[in-house]
Amino acid sequence: MAKAIPSRSENYSEWYNELIKKADLAENSAVRGCMVIKPYGFSIWEKMQRALDDMFKETGHSNAYFPLFIPKSFLSKEASHVEGFAKECAVVTHYRLKNAEDGSGVIVDPEAKLEEELIVRPTSETVIWSTYRNWIQSYRDLPLLINQWANVVRWEMRTRIFLRTAEFLWQEGHTAHATADEAMDETRQMLDVYARFAEEWMAMPVIRGAKTPNERFAGAEDTLCIEAMMQDGKALQAGTSHFLGQNFAKAFEVQFLTKENKLDYVWGTSWGVSTRLMGALIMAHSDDDGLVLPPKLAPIQVVIVPIFKNEEQLAQLSAKVKPVMQELRKLGITVKFDDSDANKPGWKFAEYELRGVPVRLAMGMRDLENGTVEVARRDLKTKETVALDGIVGHIQNLLDDIQQTIYQKALQFRESNMFRVDSYDAFKEQIEKGGFILAHWDGTSETEEAIKEETKATIRCIPLDAPEEEGQCIYTGKPSSRRVVFARAY
Ligand code: AMP
Repeated sequence: MAKAIPSRSENYSEWYNELIKKADLAENSAVRGCMVIKPYGFSIWEKMQRALDDMFKETGHSNAYFPLFIPKSFLSKEASHVEGFAKECAVVTHYRLKNAEDGSGVIVDPEAKLEEELIVRPTSETVIWSTYRNWIQSYRDLPLLINQWANVVRWEMRTRIFLRTAEFLWQEGHTAHATADEAMDETRQMLDVYARFAEEWMAMPVIRGAKTPNERFAGAEDTLCIEAMMQDGKALQAGTSHFLGQNFAKAFEVQFLTKENKLDYVWGTSWGVSTRLMGALIMAHSDDDGLVLPPKLAPIQVVIVPIFKNEEQLAQLSAKVKPVMQELRKLGITVKFDDSDANKPGWKFAEYELRGVPVRLAMGMRDLENGTVEVARRDLKTKETVALDGIVGHIQNLLDDIQQTIYQKALQFRESNMFRVDSYDAFKEQIEKGGFILAHWDGTSETEEAIKEETKATIRCIPLDAPEEEGQCIYTGKPSSRRVVFARAY
């Protein structure tokens, strides 16, 4: 059978695009940079949402919803925030269309101009802090721990499906606290939630770190992030958690009475992950035959393909399989029985491989006689014949094993593509080959910019667990106290 998608080594970026199309995850839409997420892709996103949402609730957060539109004046209230987002804002100026007098179609009605123009939210700090002003009066109202699931629009010039789109789906947490320490703890806590989600659900190892001032969120005092390595050795920022200091509280006059009866500004955080995680999931694990999904996020965890020549055989196989399916479902395992006769088993095998179904069972008449079933795992592409007796426990263990194996594989890949480099020449050579580079940096924006200009590599983060280590900046030779992570990134 012809390969459905180009191989990763042939053309990594085409592999990615074709895989998304062929696995029925998403497609580009009529509007540049905006995507249609198809049912199969959306069901993966829903699983991500559910897991994250549970983790947010476990850590004390509640969901709420704020409007899509933000008055333009709100955005300007926090100076660095507006500066950061101005270049990618979609603006609503009118609220009505009318027929053109020359019959050429519909035009914007010039008489329906909005008094104040509206921004389509690129992020919601401004509208939320303008609301918090009314919600927070005293220390008793704090902490305020709110999350919203929403879409946002950032008019990105260079887009790539899931990884960087003009409209994307995400969640944004916005919290308010009485002290700087509490807000910083929250910032760290949510970074840890993201890291846990990435590692335990997506089976994707991440590095926790702080962004450099250059890469900080516009309006934040500190931006923490998780960074993951894709299979081409490039980095992807997979989630961010920001310590906002009192910046937004000051911009929106959000003050509270402290226990000591003094007025003070509130401390804030915000944190988000987006549909970019879908791109991360694909790029971290999938192979030349299609998607490889960690079982915890796979919409279908087990597919059963009966191999039959006629209705009677199918009936016999079905009778044998049904109780197994019932038991699997009782355990919360999603199972599909594909008994359609429209496609041959070989076609079905390839199709479920493409879609990344972690476990495939195939059962023919000989298996029926022998009381066996053929079990294939998607990640390693291995097959074995297993006794039907005890198959449910076997599958349960197998799903756990696949989840672990995928994670370990990605971890080993990252470990073998992390390089400690101590000279700029070696740095330039390595960056062409890909991977993460651990190198000393003098801590200045100038050096960071110069390296970016010359090599397209950016500082992905200053790892939180980086040990102190005396060294010299690879670019200027100035003293440095720890290594940072450099890479080319998506
Ligand atoms: P930020 O508000 O800039 O910290 O971004 C929050 C989250 O959204 C991060 O996890 C980013 O990776 C993600 N993100 C930012 N811009 C985009 C985009 N254009 N498309 C998809 N995800 C994005």
